[in-house]
Amino acid sequence: MGASLPSAAIERGARWLQLPGGVFDAVGSRHRDVWLRELTGADEELLTDRVFASGAQRASALLARAIAKVEGIEAPIDEAFAASLSIGDRDALLLRLRQLEVGDHVHQVKRCGNPECGRKVDVDFLISELEVRQAEPLAPTLTLALPRSDGSGEVRLTLRLPTGADQEALAAAALPPAQANSLLLSRIVLDVDGRGPLSRAAAHALTLAQRNRIAEFLAQQAPGPDLAIDVACPYCAAPMAYDFDLVAFFLPSAR
Ligand SMILES: [Zn+2]
Repeated sequence: MGASLPSAAIERGARWLQLPGGVFDAVGSRHRDVWLRELTGADEELLTDRVFASGAQRASALLARAIAKVEGIEAPIDEAFAASLSIGDRDALLLRLRQLEVGDHVHQVKRCGNPECGRKVDVDFLISELEVRQAEPLAPTLTLALPRSDGSGEVRLTLRLPTGADQEALAAAALPPAQANSLLLSRIVLDVDGRGPLSRAAAHALTLAQRNRIAEFLAQQAPGPDLAIDVACPYCAAPMAYDFDLVAFFLPSAR
C-alpha cells in the first residue's frame, strides 16, 4: 500500500474497494485497489445543478469526485479517467458508494408483469448479496474466435471491455438498439484477423448469431457485479426477474 494514500481513507477499511476488473497502466500492469472519499453536500449540489447529457456522464462526474486514489495510478482522477473504467468496475464503485452513503439494503417496488395480476410487489435485497464476478487474470484485451457466417472457419477478434465512455457515446448517439449495438461493436472490437478495427459497416454486417456470440462472450468475461435480480411475484408466482438499473437508482435525476 502506497505511503501517499490519505491516512483517513486507510483507517476506514470500508472505503477501500478492490475493483473486480482493474485499470491497466501504460506498461500493461493492472491496478485494482481504490480508495473512496466521503461525498459532501458540495458534491451533491454539483451533481444536481449541472446538466448532464446522460446518466453515464453523470456517473462519471460522481465517480471522478468520489475516487480519492487508485493504487499505482499517478494520473489525475478526473471524469475522463472515470469514463475509462469498465462498466463492471463502475457498477462495483457505484454500489459501494450507495452502500456507504445510504446503506446496504435496497427496497424497490415493481409491478407484476402478469396482466391477470399486475399487483405492486416489494422487492428487497442487500447490495452485499449481489454476486461479483472477479476476473483473475484479466488482460487489457480479450480474444474471441468467432465462427464465420458461411461456416468456413473462424475470424479472430481482439476486443476490450465496454467502458463508461462507450456508455456516454451510445447515450449521445441515441440510436435504435441494433444500430447502437453496431456502434458499440465498432468501438470495442480493436482488431479482426490482424486487419485492424471493425468498421461500423462491418459491425452492421455481422449476423445476429455472431452478435449474440460476442454479447455472450462479453457477459461471461466481463468482471463486475451481477445486477440480475431474480424474483417471483408473491401473489401469482409469475417470474419478475429484472436488471437493477444502478444509474437510475443511485442517480435518480439522471435522464
Ligand atoms: Zn403477480
